Amino acid sequence: MKSITGMDYEELKSEIVETLGWERYRADQIASWVYDKHVLDFSEMTNLSKEQRKKLSESYTLDRLEMLGKQVSKIDGTTKYLWKLQDGNTIESVLIFYPNRVTACISTQVGCPVGCRFCATGLSGFVRNLSTGEIVSQIIHMEKDSKLKIGNIVYMGMGEPFLNYKNVIKSMKILNHPKMLGVGIRHITVSTVGIPEKIISFAKDGMKARLAISLHASYNHKRDFLVPINVRYPIEEVIQAAKEYQKITGSRVSIEYIMIRGINDFDSDAEKLVQVLRGLRVFVNLIPVNPVVGDFQRPSKKRIEAFKRILEKNGLEVEIRKEKGTDIDAACGQLRIRSRNIERALK
Ligand code: SAH
Ligand code: SF4
Repeated sequence: MKSITGMDYEELKSEIVETLGWERYRADQIASWVYDKHVLDFSEMTNLSKEQRKKLSESYTLDRLEMLGKQVSKIDGTTKYLWKLQDGNTIESVLIFYPNRVTACISTQVGCPVGCRFCATGLSGFVRNLSTGEIVSQIIHMEKDSKLKIGNIVYMGMGEPFLNYKNVIKSMKILNHPKMLGVGIRHITVSTVGIPEKIISFAKDGMKARLAISLHASYNHKRDFLVPINVRYPIEEVIQAAKEYQKITGSRVSIEYIMIRGINDFDSDAEKLVQVLRGLRVFVNLIPVNPVVGDFQRPSKKRIEAFKRILEKNGLEVEIRKEKGTDIDAACGQLRIRSRNIERALK
């Protein structure tokens, strides 16, 4: 069955007009039920005729997700959802609250094939890509559950977005379209481990969403260890692609750098990072590692500050990422693993 939530606006229109032979405005009515009212059951779309509702139920799906778990942080309200997909696989999404906006963090794959050493998702293996509808559906379900309008979206949940490029790009168009979720394109950020040809496609496809690159190391031998895909796409190639992206789009790029004690937190790592980033307009996010997998520890506050100062002294803009939802396992991938452990224990 075709998925309605997996169709961009033009496809939905053409499905309604060409395939079903209905009036054009029916497409807007359906979009309004799904994206404004979060109604994910055709039988409840009461401004359509009974026959139309029946026809829709027989021929289309709406990528409904079942909420298996929901954890709310007592510290800052950060809310983490565990969803069951229609094939039984599970994924996570997170809502993060800031004083004047709500940000959603969404997943793009079940698991992740990249296998970064510090990442719970990566170490849980890879199952499959999410469909466009499954990506979009996370936002609909979180708006429905929280009764809030989501204003910012980050593709930083489970999975590597650029290994599911087509579905991710299409999902962005749906999230952005004024008749669908209507989230401003500059309020959407995609985070990638850095697949050079996809970074360039992203620019050439005219996607105006923001780009974040997970670098995590400035020396190739360290990045090979932390982010195994670096063996195939070394730092220079990732940065070169980011420069081309910047030439085409004119946009600044965020650089994500997880800080791990004794591994990538030395002065020499910071100095090398300055060198690596030369010629690229960036904003650097330093993220103290969440010690969920592996034997990794965070550097001391003093060490992180010293690292930051070296970058700033060299003209880089840097922020130490504030932690959210530490009491509910902030880094993505953990809720799913924990629930699987619980499931296993119950068997
Ligand atoms: N695959 C993409 C996007 C999702 S990764 C990428 O790697 O960029 C999810 C995010 O969580 C990334 O920003 C990653 O850097 C971060 N992350 C994963 N494990 C972490 C950990 N143990 N501590 C802190 N951040 C972590
Ligand atoms: Fe995949 Fe990103 Fe986790 Fe690396 S950090 S394993 S790319 S989800």
